[in-house]
Amino acid sequence: MAVNTEFYQSLVAQLPPEVQLVAVSKTKPNNDIQALYDLGQRDFGENYVQELVDKSAQLPQDIRWHFIGHLQSNKVKYLAPFVHLIQGVDSLKLLLEINKQANKLGRVIPVLLQMHIAQEESKFGMDAAELEQAVEAAQNLSGVRVDGLMGMASFTHNLDQVKEEFTRLKYQYDALNKGRFRCLSMGMSGDYALAIAAGSTCVRIGSLLFGSRN
Ligand SMILES: *Cc1c(COP(=O)(O)O)cnc(C)c1O
Repeated sequence: MAVNTEFYQSLVAQLPPEVQLVAVSKTKPNNDIQALYDLGQRDFGENYVQELVDKSAQLPQDIRWHFIGHLQSNKVKYLAPFVHLIQGVDSLKLLLEINKQANKLGRVIPVLLQMHIAQEESKFGMDAAELEQAVEAAQNLSGVRVDGLMGMASFTHNLDQVKEEFTRLKYQYDALNKGRFRCLSMGMSGDYALAIAAGSTCVRIGSLLFGSRN
């Protein structure tokens, strides 16, 4: 299926100015990414380290690459030189490894901490106490900057449930913010409108733009 450029343009026109769009291009070919790039999109999200490394080498250098998947500590080094934002930092261990790799490069890598808000145990993320601990720890780490929080709601048709989960994430964001955050990343193809209503400033949209994945 081809890229839905019509949907892209209507989405960009309708998003509130404070909400950023990350086009989630995982598993999609470079041509599809280039098509949105040509329409002005610069922020793209990927879930797989090797795929992201390959694409970043092949596509325009001014693309801002967001890593949005579950990141294993031993792979941080491959992304550290160029990644724009690591969304989904789900453990202190990972945060420390990002800091270490960033220090080697003399970089400060922006990150979002992932909160576990869904019912599914399979989804990653920290609880409220772990988040607080990570935010504290980050203050003494020169290689990372915590720009905010990220979360994924349950995969369910129960909209009240999804709304409740986003509201919980927004509450945690406000509680930890103290003026230092700039990004609350929540909302995907199926629930981005609910996420924006709950206070999202960054939506991560894949299948509505690029078609469904296999
Ligand atoms: C795949 C993915 C998305 C995009 O999902 P769609 O439903 O295709 O919009 C957003 N966020 C994360 C973390 C993902 O893994």
